[in-house]
Amino acid sequence: MNDFDSIIKRITVTRLEPGDYTGEDGLLYCGKCRTPKQFRMEAPPLEGRLLPHPCRCEQERLDQEAAEQEARRHRQTVADLKRRGFTDPAMREWTFANDNGKCLRMKHARFYVENWPTMQEENIGYLLWGGVGTGKSYFAGCIANALMEQEVAVRMTNFALILNDLTASFEGRNEYIARLCRAPLLILDDFGMERGTEYGLEQVYNVIDSRYRSRRPLIVTTNLSLQDLQHPQDTAHARIYDRLLEMCAPIRFSGENFRKVTAQDKLARLKNLMELPALSPVADD
Ligand SMILES: [Zn+2]
Repeated sequence: MNDFDSIIKRITVTRLEPGDYTGEDGLLYCGKCRTPKQFRMEAPPLEGRLLPHPCRCEQERLDQEAAEQEARRHRQTVADLKRRGFTDPAMREWTFANDNGKCLRMKHARFYVENWPTMQEENIGYLLWGGVGTGKSYFAGCIANALMEQEVAVRMTNFALILNDLTASFEGRNEYIARLCRAPLLILDDFGMERGTEYGLEQVYNVIDSRYRSRRPLIVTTNLSLQDLQHPQDTAHARIYDRLLEMCAPIRFSGENFRKVTAQDKLARLKNLMELPALSPVADD
């Protein structure tokens, strides 16, 4: 018997289960769903031969198995992306689902995710600027999480860590920057170089300029004001800020300091719990 025959013999064996029966057409039928478990070949060389075919309940089982396998693969991929993409596991919780709805800018984050193919194509990023505690990082984290859920590799980091890594590994500096630039979306949290050294500024420019030349989008959060960015103190800062403003659409974050509000809410709850008449007000940060 040649290979071809042995393959045919193997696949033509249909599993027989209790309740199965032969229909008027001569095919084997499933006793449960009453649909055929075989089909008849109509063309040579196997004309007339009965071959196995999943009945409806078997097909449903196979489909469900495939869907479960795909869901497991997706969960694993997303978990890997989040593990590699964030510098702090807490950022995995910065999602639209967990949003308290107080940030009026959040619609821009949703817009970015919904229009990601265009943002990627047109190389459009955001420059999220405004005071401390106004929700800029959370906003960026929501974009990162939502895109990672779609299996887009996002890297969310900050210059304190980048400069640390670059100083620690002089040898792999180019490869390190190249890796940052390969991410389809790069998010640089807490950007600001008021205290930057000359070496630090040079590395920051290297990263920003490499990202610019990679033609991939960048999102930056900063406590600097747009005025600071538009009127830099010297040329070293100017060339960095010019690049940022070319790549990123500025979005202003203003209003109340969410961290302070949260602290006040906690204090109010504590006050209720303890039935204390008065506690000293929360200091501004
Ligand atoms: Zn069946």
